[in-house]
Amino acid sequence: MRLGFTAEEERFRIEVRDFIGNHLPPDIRRKVELGQYLAKHDYVRWQDILAARGWYAVNWPKQWGGPGWTPAQRYLFQQEYGAQPCPPLVQFGVNMVGPVIYTYGNAAQQRRFLPRILANQDWWCQGYSEPGAGSDLASLKTEAVLRGDHYVVNGQKIWTTWAQWADWMFALVRTSREERPQQGISFLLVDMRSPGITVRPIRTFDGDREVNEVFFDDVRVPAEQLVGREGAGWSYGKFLLEHERFVISGLPRSKRLLRRVKGLAARMEEGPGRRVADLPDVALRFADLETQIAALEYTELRYLSALEQGGTPGALVSILKVRGTEIEQAIAELAFRCFGTRAIPFDVETLEGRGSDGDALAPEFGAAVGPLYFNLRKVSIWGGSNEIQRNILARQVLGL
Ligand SMILES: Cc1cc2nc3c(=O)[nH]c(=O)nc-3n(C[C@H](O)[C@H](O)[C@H](O)COP(=O)(O)OP(=O)(O)OC[C@H]3O[C@@H](n4cnc5c(N)ncnc54)[C@H](O)[C@@H]3O)c2cc1C
Repeated sequence: MRLGFTAEEERFRIEVRDFIGNHLPPDIRRKVELGQYLAKHDYVRWQDILAARGWYAVNWPKQWGGPGWTPAQRYLFQQEYGAQPCPPLVQFGVNMVGPVIYTYGNAAQQRRFLPRILANQDWWCQGYSEPGAGSDLASLKTEAVLRGDHYVVNGQKIWTTWAQWADWMFALVRTSREERPQQGISFLLVDMRSPGITVRPIRTFDGDREVNEVFFDDVRVPAEQLVGREGAGWSYGKFLLEHERFVISGLPRSKRLLRRVKGLAARMEEGPGRRVADLPDVALRFADLETQIAALEYTELRYLSALEQGGTPGALVSILKVRGTEIEQAIAELAFRCFGTRAIPFDVETLEGRGSDGDALAPEFGAAVGPLYFNLRKVSIWGGSNEIQRNILARQVLGL
């Protein structure tokens, strides 16, 4: 197993760190640091900067316009990316449908879609889940019927992240009814401006508008937008989910967040002369989380070693997803413990932008702690819930 990096790889790490440090726009940096709402143009502006440097589609091979990095370079890029307050990279185009199209799409689809994804010109969303088809995704019902040179799509998707901003959706649809439900599913690329599509927002606890319901009412999709073979969409969809789960582990982001909360807790007081970070229950939880993060980091290095040896990581991805998301949620809970009443979004000091903590950012960040806690409830659900990941581990690792 690999435990360190070569001198050349370390130089690469510094190059990435410096680039991000010098090019991340200060207003976006500040929004991320304070856990504030990011608008579509914030994501797009930052991704344009990465695309101009050739560092947007970092997982793509050279043949398709990616940098052709080694697994170690990709890993280091992710570490440095998460260590600074960058907006989360929007994965749907570049790390989900992009690899499906260059692996399973035909030449015309590759010419049409890949350059636009590479240049950050289209915003994609993921149309998998439906009411009644989340964990049990194969029971999805949205139907696509071939009529001449078009599919006619009817049905509903749900929890579709950022559908309201999307130009395109990659969707799993049912094109036939087979004995094994997986066999009748196809992978379709849908223009979100097509007549018959309605996007309806779902407001979440954190006050955000991130997820939606999407309704299809006789939506006509050109047959040339079917990826691969009709009825083979399940295997393309699963290929895509493996990519998604690794990204979801979010370890570099967790490390940055924990450092930030600890730094602020070291300056905040709970009672006269008692720093929050020094309280025994708090200090213990910081130490515990730091240990868990170190353990997960070694697991990630095992994953990296498997990739470098040309293997497929298999069930390791599920371990990363479960542990990574549990750690993220535990950090949000600890932040709540540390901030106490400062985490009340309508705290007067917060609203007036002043604080008595000697750190101008503390009260403002405090206002983000509640929304952050609520927002991170999702991470153990999406991308295949943690219970489903445990089922995979039970089957593939324990042989149950
Ligand atoms: C914020 C957010 C964003 C999302 N974004 C998208 C998106 O962009 N596109 C998209 O397609 N989907 C998206 N999803 C949907 C997500 O993938 C599903 O919510 C997830 O797959 C779970 O499905 P479900 O909500 O239908 O819950 P269910 O499948 O009904 O599960 C309910 C509960 O039962 C448990 N459970 C179910 N089956 C089993 C089992 N066999 N063994 C043990 N426990 C089980 C689950 O773990 C869960 O706790 C998003 C979800 C959230 C919360």
